[in-house]
Order: sequence, then C-alpha cells, then structure tokens
Amino acid sequence: MKHQQTPIITQERDGWELPGWQRQQADLITDPAELLSLLGLGAESLPESLAAAKDFPLRVPRGYVRLMEPGNPHDPLLRQVLSVPAELREEDGYSSDPLEEASHTPVPGLLHKYHGRALLVVTGACAVHCRYCFRRHFPYQSHLSGKRWDQALEWLASRRDIGEVILSGGDPLTLNNRRLQELLAALAEIPHLRRLRIHSRTPVVIPERMDEPLLALLSDSRWQTALVLHANHSREISDELVSRCQQWRREGITLLNQSVLLAGVNDSVDTLEALSDRLHVAGVMPYYLHQLDAVQGAAHFAVPDSVAMQLHRDLRSRLPGFLVPRLSREEPGEPAKTVLAG
Ligand SMILES: *Cc1c(COP(=O)(O)O)cnc(C)c1O
Ligand code: SF4
Repeated sequence: MKHQQTPIITQERDGWELPGWQRQQADLITDPAELLSLLGLGAESLPESLAAAKDFPLRVPRGYVRLMEPGNPHDPLLRQVLSVPAELREEDGYSSDPLEEASHTPVPGLLHKYHGRALLVVTGACAVHCRYCFRRHFPYQSHLSGKRWDQALEWLASRRDIGEVILSGGDPLTLNNRRLQELLAALAEIPHLRRLRIHSRTPVVIPERMDEPLLALLSDSRWQTALVLHANHSREISDELVSRCQQWRREGITLLNQSVLLAGVNDSVDTLEALSDRLHVAGVMPYYLHQLDAVQGAAHFAVPDSVAMQLHRDLRSRLPGFLVPRLSREEPGEPAKTVLAG
C-alpha cells in the first residue's frame, strides 16, 4: 500500500488562515487505540487492529468520529474505518488488483475502460481510509511519480473520442483549490472534453471541503459539473453536509451518490431506505449501489448476490424509482459496469 500522505501544513502564512477542512485533514486519527478510546470502547483486539493497519493505515477525520455512536462496537460508521483482525485472513478469489486496472492504464495516472470517459487518478491521498477500499493495494507511486499529470493531459488532448473526464484517486478533493484550479485550467484547454465529473468521499467525512472557493471554481468553469459523493449510511449525511449540498445544487452542480453494499454497514432494507431518503433531503440522487470488489482484506464486507438482489427488490417496493440506486458490479473486460438490478 502506497497511499501518499497529504502535506500537513500547520503554519499560517502571510496572514492567510488555513481553511477549516485543511486543518481537519492535518489532525486525523491514525491510532486505533485513540479511536476506540474516543468512543469509550475496549481494546481487546488492539494488537490485530494495529497489525491490520500496518499495510493500510488507519485514517479518520475527527468530525466523522462525532457522527458515530459512542459505546457501540458495531457502529456502521466505525466498521468502515477501524482496522480489524479479519483483514489479515487470506481468502480465495480476493486479489490485490480485482479489477485488472493495470491493463487499462494507457499512461500513468489515467484509466480508460469505458467508451467516451477517462478517469484521472489525480492523487493517491484520501481524507479517510475505508477498510473495504478496492484501491487499498493500488500502486499509486507508479501512477503519480515523475511528471505528474502531463502525460495524462497529453493523452486526453490526443483522444477526441473522450468527452468526459472523471477526477478520481485516491480522492481528488484532498487537493487544495489552487491545485484543482491548475488542473481544471489545463483540462479546459482540451476542446473535446464536454463533461467534468468528480468522485469524492471527502465531503462525507469533512463537509467543510465543499467550500465557497471550490464552488466558485466549478460553477465558473465551462462544464456542466457532476459531483458524485460516496456515502454508505444515512448517518454520514450530517446537517452540515445537507446544507452545503443544497447550496451547490442551487448553483447548478449535479449531485449524485454512489454507495458500496457492505455487510454490517448497510445490508438491510431499512438502512438503504433511510440512506436514499436522507440523500433526497440533501438534493443528491442515488446513482449506484455497488457490489464489493473482491479485494484482499475486505472479504468480511461481502454480501452474496442473492441477498443483494432481494434487498434491491425490497427497496423498490418501498421507494419511488428515482430514489433506488442501480445495483451494479465492476467486472474486468466488460464495456460498462454490470447492472444486476436497475
Ligand atoms: C466507474 C468507472 C467509470 C464511470 O462509469 P459510469 O457508469 O459512467 O459511472 C469510468 N471509468 C472507469 C475506469 C470506471 O471505473
Ligand atoms: S475514500 Fe475512496 S479511494 Fe479513498 S480509501 Fe475510501 S473508498 Fe478508497
């Protein structure tokens, strides 16, 4: 695991105060013992937690911990971020590159799998480390070394069939606004790019990241921009996040959400219904509900397809169609994500 660290800036420079979200990023919880003690939980499995965190470090913003229920070792938010002994088990069929992404990388930092769309790996850093992450073994170093985005930008400029660029990672919103502005300015010079999409989990764990300068940057750009949030549980959608999403929507940003179906987190129809309801309040449309990618160390999150399909049927019987996400899976070699139930 080669997750890069976000530069930690603690000094105020030239009277400029560091934005709140960056202060939160500089003050993350990285020690399982601290996380457990903040929640008033015992530390019985701490040695294994520490061992599991060695390959893929624990990384949790403090504001996200405040959304957890103290004293509950099975809290669905905690389960997404606490390293656990089960991660250390080797499971058949689980690999370090389940999507065979290595074979879809024409140039470093860029994935091209689907017609008309290219995914730019703009950074290896994330605001939070999710234990189910399919990129937990991703070779970020080989994507991000050397010339940064230059080769990816050249490739995009040479491919007139690409109309949409998707900023991903890692998490693109861990970059500061100045870096994003640089990137957007470079992309804006490529005339055939018509759509910009940003996939990010940062707003879910640090809503303050959806700040005014970023909104201005996106709404002043020449693109119709979509922001795809990655929320998995209704309790992740705080009042703060709701009010920022409502503001962004008023400014014309399309807001979507993509979740992963995770055992012990959101594998019940009540939980999924509450998530869609809450997203709707925030003005965010449910987009995908993903089946877990078979990445080593995440098998304890897997939900069998038969159970997933039943959950989806139950959800459809409870909600209007526009609040039911597509149950999908990523399969290597397919021309699109495979939809198990729409
Ligand atoms: C998921 C994904 C996309 C986007 O797919 P949509 O169905 O348009 O959301 C594009 N490129 C890659 C490599 C992806 O994994
Ligand atoms: S934010 Fe996304 S890329 Fe980063 S660890 Fe979580 S799931 Fe993985």
